[in-house]
Amino acid sequence: MGAYAEGEWVRLIARMNGRAIGDPMKRIVILGGGTGGTLAANRLRRTLRADRASITVVDQNDRHVYQPGLLFIPFGKERADRITRPRGRQLHRGVDYRRGTVESIELASNTVHLVDGSELAYDVLIVATGAVLSLEETAGLTGPGWMEKVFTFYTLEGATALAKALEAFEGGRVVVNVFDMPIKCPVAPLEFCFLADSYFRKRGIRDRVELTYVTPLDGAFTKPVCSRKLGGMLGERNLNLVTEYNTASVDGVEGRLISYDDREIPFDLAVVVPIHSGAPFVFQSTGLGDELGFIPADERTLQSKAAPNVFVLGDAAALPTSKAGSVTHFEGKALARNVCQYLEGKSLDGSFDGHANCFIESGDAKALLIDFNYVTEPLEGHYPSSIGLPLMKESRLNHIGKLLFQSLYWHSLLPGRDLPGVGSDMPRAGKHFESTAVKESAK
Ligand SMILES: Cc1cc2nc3c(=O)[nH]c(=O)nc-3n(C[C@H](O)[C@H](O)[C@H](O)COP(=O)(O)OP(=O)(O)OC[C@H]3O[C@@H](n4cnc5c(N)ncnc54)[C@H](O)[C@@H]3O)c2cc1C
Repeated sequence: MGAYAEGEWVRLIARMNGRAIGDPMKRIVILGGGTGGTLAANRLRRTLRADRASITVVDQNDRHVYQPGLLFIPFGKERADRITRPRGRQLHRGVDYRRGTVESIELASNTVHLVDGSELAYDVLIVATGAVLSLEETAGLTGPGWMEKVFTFYTLEGATALAKALEAFEGGRVVVNVFDMPIKCPVAPLEFCFLADSYFRKRGIRDRVELTYVTPLDGAFTKPVCSRKLGGMLGERNLNLVTEYNTASVDGVEGRLISYDDREIPFDLAVVVPIHSGAPFVFQSTGLGDELGFIPADERTLQSKAAPNVFVLGDAAALPTSKAGSVTHFEGKALARNVCQYLEGKSLDGSFDGHANCFIESGDAKALLIDFNYVTEPLEGHYPSSIGLPLMKESRLNHIGKLLFQSLYWHSLLPGRDLPGVGSDMPRAGKHFESTAVKESAK
């Protein structure tokens, strides 16, 4: 054994493996194998050696959908098979994939209960079960007319059925209605409106189609500067905007939306974004979620408020930022770092700033890009620095960026790699802080 006694060799090897001698193997369980669960598992597996922690991902199905692609399916610009991949194959070697539906979490005993009766014990739990569409929350939605003249493009099945309906549509009233907030990708229904305008123009029937955007918000979007910009774009395209409309029910026979204050909006074709909530198991897990089934967490560290060994990322989290894949991606780095810090008994890193960015398709092969965080509104300028994609402006470059993003999603984002030149924090370089503020104060 040379200069080292046997015990010292064991300690040395353990230190080289990054763990203290006597540390038991930790069990990390990740609920949800979508955007957040997959990238978190892969990031952690790259950081933590296999003899230090086991990583298990649980998901209820084996179909990973690239959800931004759903927007293009209704217009015949994308196909279901091109935006779906087997879930397990997106996970690195050394990550266990378990197919199963979560029924509840027992925080006191660190146990996950699955619907099939089995249990999973954890040392650290990561919840990444996203948001679900609560179709039954809106009276009449799935009654007569559902998937005939009332559709949603927020599911693969809905987007595919809508493509057929749009193809057969020869004119009439098309209503795009967001029922309530929060929703995934709050710009997606606006993008749908812009693409629909372009689609009907290309088909030569735009003058026979009345397009109306109906929202519960007091403007086209949540962020004031952006809301004015997008509201203006609806006007330029001759789209009607109905605000502060809270849909109570859908009458798919007569073709009308009815609000809680008894306003009626007639339609021949309705494209709706249903009410979103957290996954059903959250409601059955005492102390975990809020009244909508989303999980409150520290907005800087992503540690849940329910228990220190439970972390949350993506749409499942109740955080004051958008429910978007970009946010989920930026959260991934902070989350993986903090899970490692937690396992080592170190204090957590509180640097996540709520960074979000979204390409907004505006039709005719153009798109805008917006970039913001918890405190900074979308501003004009360029991203990610003074040379880059134009912010808050329609451009072909942004449209190309949106289309190319799918490849980055499968090959960089999900495998848990950093995108070249793109950090997790919102960049300040390239943004016009002063000029946007001056324009705003002039209004
Ligand atoms: C139409 C549309 C367009 C979009 N466009 C964009 C865009 O352009 N840019 C952008 O940044 N974002 C966009 N998004 C949003 C983006 O797709 C989501 O924000 C992102 O996927 C969130 O990741 P997540 O991991 O939180 O949830 P998801 O990726 O939805 O994954 C959640 C996973 O949890 C699983 N799960 C749920 N409940 C259970 C249970 N009980 N047991 C086991 N497993 C369960 C689900 O099966 C799913 O695989 C869009 C979304 C839609 C619908």
